[in-house]
Amino acid sequence: MFAFRSIRSRLIVTFLAIIAAVMLITSLFLYNQLERYFINSMVDSLTRSGYEAAINVAGLLRDQTGTVADSGKLSAYAESVSRLAGARIIFVNRQGTVIADSVRVGGRLGQNLEQEEIDAALAGEVGSGILVSERSGQRVLQVAVPILEEGSDPMGAVFLSASMQEIYGGDQVLGILQRVRNYLLVATLIAAGVVGGGSVILARRFTGPLEVLTSAARRMGEGELDQRIEVSSRDEIGHLAEQFNIMAARLNYYTSNLRHFASNVSHELRTPLTSLSLIAKSMKEYEMEPEEQKEFIEDMDRELDRLIALVNDLLELTKLQEGEQRHDPVCLVEIVENTTVKLKPRFEQLNIRLIMELPPRPVKVYGSKLQLSQALHNLLDNALKYTAAGGWVRIAMQLQKGAVEVKIEDSGCGIPEKDLPNIFERFYRVDQARSRDMGGTGLGLAIVKETIVAHGGKIWVESEEGEGSTFYFKLPLQESVNYN
Ligand code: ADP
Repeated sequence: MFAFRSIRSRLIVTFLAIIAAVMLITSLFLYNQLERYFINSMVDSLTRSGYEAAINVAGLLRDQTGTVADSGKLSAYAESVSRLAGARIIFVNRQGTVIADSVRVGGRLGQNLEQEEIDAALAGEVGSGILVSERSGQRVLQVAVPILEEGSDPMGAVFLSASMQEIYGGDQVLGILQRVRNYLLVATLIAAGVVGGGSVILARRFTGPLEVLTSAARRMGEGELDQRIEVSSRDEIGHLAEQFNIMAARLNYYTSNLRHFASNVSHELRTPLTSLSLIAKSMKEYEMEPEEQKEFIEDMDRELDRLIALVNDLLELTKLQEGEQRHDPVCLVEIVENTTVKLKPRFEQLNIRLIMELPPRPVKVYGSKLQLSQALHNLLDNALKYTAAGGWVRIAMQLQKGAVEVKIEDSGCGIPEKDLPNIFERFYRVDQARSRDMGGTGLGLAIVKETIVAHGGKIWVESEEGEGSTFYFKLPLQESVNYN
């Protein structure tokens, strides 16, 4: 069945309806104008012939009494005019009586003709009208012109009647208007054919790519996320296809990221949970000395701490990604000082020197105190974890145009060059075992990066294996504060 709901069929039907309407209006207008033009020119031609005859007849009538006996000469004249004008010619006198008729046999000679046109001509004007024959339906054009003599009323009229067969057509003949009508009909059919064909091609060009898009979207909905569409045009549909490809690529990326993340989380959870399960089973199955039991409980405690740290980090990441942070003007110097105060005992315990190079005045940024403290804590905690005793960690802050750059440098083990591009990824660790032993979740730097990005800043790292690492981050300054 012809589906009228499809764009293709609607386009075709609309185009065809438009062309039909345009052709109909044009045809009606043209037909009307042409009909009027042909009638007017026929009236003009008959009027001209009538006037010519009227002048000559006026001359003839002036010398004669106008009786029926004189009509022989007049009728012969009427006959000759009739041949030239292609019309029947009748002369009538002032009383409306026929004094000559170009039709000799069966003519109207001597009869009184009652025609509106003749009445008009006897009143001094040109009368014209169309008579439709009741019998044949044929149209006849009738024109009457006055026979004038200077200074007096018309002395009679010339009455001309001609068939309009040439215009409207007759039994065997095709009239001009019929031919025009046929031409218009053929033109309409050709135009409809051309427009119909054109609209099929056009509709196919429009709907073809849409069908491709629809089926790609359907396949995506079914889970095939690697759908891509070939963009062949630069129009709106081309842009739509381009956007579709971008959307599909993003969706694919996010989905595989999510899958990867979920598998990483499961993996991270499995290790402490397996340890906990083993400990619990051992404690259940074996009789233990209190000393041994204490050891097992300490192990459990450690694994639980690891689980709690992991869950906390995961929650932190989720919060950052949900964009739930409240931003206020905060002082970065104060945040650094507070964070280092908390970590000072660990620095002392590990015999690592902490060097601080902070500006002597407040440095205001727009952000969350809690999140920025957490980010700094993660960076310093890493510096502590990966720096051996006797080493040092340096925090420096430098004001730049509209921004503040914070540098956290350590004399630790450094990061191999091949790992540098990945260390901000979730669960990425240079040395899995070492990180786990130190209680790392592998999420610390991912949280730092999310935080800095959420604050409109950026983060990067420079490091050389065995020499140490330097983490940099840059945040925009709160605009209202002038630092010059
Ligand atoms: P983790 O919990 O393992 O520390 P992070 O995301 O904080 O996870 O860090 C990712 C990895 O980057 C670490 O496992 C470590 O290998 C490396 N790393 C981070 N900071 C430093 C640093 N200051 N010195 C050397 N290596 C570092």
